[in-house]
Amino acid sequence: MVRLFSAFLLRCPHCKQGNLFTDNNILHLGSLAEMPDKCTVCGQDFQIEEGFYYGAMFISYIFLAFLMFGIIGLKILFTGYVSTIELIIILGLVMLFWPYWFRLARSLWLMLYYKTHSTLDVPPDKD
Ligand SMILES: [Zn+2]
Repeated sequence: MVRLFSAFLLRCPHCKQGNLFTDNNILHLGSLAEMPDKCTVCGQDFQIEEGFYYGAMFISYIFLAFLMFGIIGLKILFTGYVSTIELIIILGLVMLFWPYWFRLARSLWLMLYYKTHSTLDVPPDKD
């Protein structure tokens, strides 16, 4: 549970202290995807392999699809309709928080990988 909480805070899955991203300001879209090669606190490798974070797209898609269709589905279930302005508000919220979803998907993907690969329990030596 602590590991999941640290993933939502965009922290290292091993030490739960080091930042996953080089720029903490989520509004700097130019550096949104920049990550250090290793954790600055414990030395955990963040660059597992080339293209590792492509898998995060699936996390992002699943999360946003369930969120949007969940909200829309509940609205239709209880009221029987969804107005255009409500759809625009939902899409606006998704777009507003997109930078965080993007980083959260990477953080969750790394956490899942870290949790399923026991060899990562011991961090590599710091260079
Ligand atoms: Zn760390």
